[in-house]
Order: sequence, then structure tokens, then C-alpha cells
Amino acid sequence: MKLTILGCHSATPKTTTHPTAQILEIKNHSFLIDCGEGTQVQMRKYKVKFSKIKRIFISHLHGDHVFGLIGLISTFRLLNRETELTVYGPKGIKELIVTQLRLSESFAGYPIKFHELSSKESELIFEDKKVAVYTIPLKHRIYTNGFLFKEKIGERKLDMKEISKYDEIEICDYQNLKNGKDFKLSSGTIIKNEKLTTDPNKPLSYAFCSDTMYHEPIIPIIQNVDLLYHEATFLKDKEDLALKTKHSTAQQAAMIAKKANVGKLILGHFSNRYKTYEGFESEACKIFSNTSLTSAGAVFELN
Ligand SMILES: [Zn+2]
Ligand SMILES: [Zn+2]
Repeated sequence: MKLTILGCHSATPKTTTHPTAQILEIKNHSFLIDCGEGTQVQMRKYKVKFSKIKRIFISHLHGDHVFGLIGLISTFRLLNRETELTVYGPKGIKELIVTQLRLSESFAGYPIKFHELSSKESELIFEDKKVAVYTIPLKHRIYTNGFLFKEKIGERKLDMKEISKYDEIEICDYQNLKNGKDFKLSSGTIIKNEKLTTDPNKPLSYAFCSDTMYHEPIIPIIQNVDLLYHEATFLKDKEDLALKTKHSTAQQAAMIAKKANVGKLILGHFSNRYKTYEGFESEACKIFSNTSLTSAGAVFELN
């Protein structure tokens, strides 16, 4: 699993600060998470393949999370895209995009599916054989979801050294072994699956918690995730402002990470009022030591 940060600041884009956008590569998917203004330029800068983006997850309809979407959808057409695109986002996202296309007398030219969200409970919104994606209902000024990306448990791994001891086990038997079945020799002896295979890799998980105030109900949803992104717009000295604008401080993000027992915490969505960000890391580390800051171009890999 590999997470690339394209932008991690709040409010207005500047030459050195870019609004929220991330690429999560997980089991052959490239998911785009949020799409602030200028995301497509950041995608080019960090060499993200446009054609690999088939699903986009939008947390909420504030501009610093979605104003790049119409531009990207338009660019896809200019690149002669034919592949279907699915956009997950709050109710209203379809109207937002369709209205912009209509008023500019434009069109996508490829199929776009909108999966609009309105539930206040966590729900499964995408799954295939290897990955499942759930919403994380957050508390912000408008309807907002984070997203939980979970790998599913994979197949058992063949222990070729053990398998080679048995002439009777052929390539056509491998899938059954990967599925956990025992092997029966022609003599009737049963060889236990655990003797021929080893455990699959531990499935990994990533929780993206976009704009939100300190909100403990998310804790059971993100419990034990390997990697948590949590917004930290302000430092503790601006806790009143965080409450007023329904954002979090670095300390609050760390409290969530600690209570949810996550593997690692990464912080972003820094307010433009701050010129340096070391304070965010040190404030969070006092509560949850395995904390890092995000920055445009930063990559977090999990194995
Ligand atoms: Zn924001
Ligand atoms: Zn917001």
C-alpha cells in the first residue's frame, strides 16, 4: 500500500501550499482522495498516471477539497478517456459537476457514475475481492465523510520447499492449497494445509479523516488501522477557533490516534496562518509518538 500526498493545506492554493488531494495505491487500484484546486497539476508533478484513476473519493463540498474535480474531469476528456469514472461524494456532487459541464456547453465524453452519500452511519461503498472501502462520518460545518480503505485477507502462501517433497501435488492443486484446503494423497493420508502453506500477508488499512472537529464516534471505525491521516488545521493555542470552524488541533488528532490505537498518524490540512509546521509534530508527539507531518510529494509506504 502506498500513499502519495499531492496537497495537504487548507483554504487557498499558493505556489508552495496545495489543498487536499492524495493518491492511494492499494491492490492494483489508484484511488484519488479529495481533489482540491490544482490537483491535476500536482498529479503531473508527482507522475501519477491519469488513466489509472477510476475511482475518486470526495470528503465534502468545500472548495479546498473539490474545486479541482471539474478541471480533472475536463482534462480526462481532452486525453480521450473512454474508461468509466466513479465519483463518491456527498449528495449534490453530481449537480455540481453536471451544472458546470452544462453551463460551459461541455461534456465528459466517457461514462461518469456518481455514488452520492447521505448516510450519517458508516457504510460500505466499494468492494472487490481484495479491497473494501467504508465511509467515516465526520463532524464539520457541512456533511463530510472520511474514508476507510481496508485490504482483505489474501490467499495462503505456498511453501514450495514442503510441496516439492510430494510428487503427487501438481500445479493444478495449488489454488486449492491457497484457499486453505488439505491435500489427500492417493494412499489416503491427509496432509494438513498448514504444512504446505504459510499465513497470508497481514491485510493493511488506511483511514483518511478529512475536515472534522474532535469527534470520538470515529474511534471504533478506525480502531487499529495501520495508518491514519487526521486533519490538524490549528495548534492547541487556537483550540477556540478550531471549535468555531469545526476543525481539529494537532493535539486532538493525536488523542484520536491514541484512543484508536493506530499504527501511525500523519497530519495535514494546515492553516495558511502558520509559516512552519514543526509545532504540529511536537504537539502531537507528546500524546502519540509515531506521528509525521504530510507535505506535497511525501510518500508513505506500508508493507
Ligand atoms: Zn478543508
Ligand atoms: Zn471543510
